[in-house]
Amino acid sequence: MEVNFCSSCGGEMETREIDGTPRRACTRCTFVHWGSYSVGVGALVVKDGKVLLVRRAQEPGKGYWTNPGGYAEQLEPIEETVRREVQEECGVDAVVRGVIALRDQPRAVHNVYIAFAMDYAGGEPTPDNVEVDAAGFYSLEEMREMHVAPFTKWLVDVALNGKTEGLTIDREPLVPLNGYGLFRT
Ligand SMILES: [Zn+2]
Repeated sequence: MEVNFCSSCGGEMETREIDGTPRRACTRCTFVHWGSYSVGVGALVVKDGKVLLVRRAQEPGKGYWTNPGGYAEQLEPIEETVRREVQEECGVDAVVRGVIALRDQPRAVHNVYIAFAMDYAGGEPTPDNVEVDAAGFYSLEEMREMHVAPFTKWLVDVALNGKTEGLTIDREPLVPLNGYGLFRT
């Protein structure tokens, strides 16, 4: 879909060659439409060898069991977004330990999905009955009888059988880096 108006100043957009690629750019200000992107965040909360799953009550994926998650908000650190989504969808408190997987999906809206390993901190899994209609901790054995989404199966394998801790949060970086959420090896 062509972008006709600038999302920064409302001015008219034109097609201009930038870095060897035709792109939509504003005729009034310096804004360039580089593309459309979204960032998904997902939670892998493991407790006693079981993984927290929710059953989707809405499309896309209605009826499938998935790990809790959502989309990054404009001004909210992703660490807080994923924590909030887990709380909202199924009433479980969990704290981010690190990033254990990433999925790249280049398409009309280029999506990058970041999967977090999270530590269980409290709460009984209780579905919100809006986004999800069931929730609980399940073993691989139990999941064999459930309608688990393929991507969730992959993430559960990473969560239970991953070889490293992944990227962990750096709360005290070597140099002051204010305003950054930092995850590192
Ligand atoms: Zn503009």
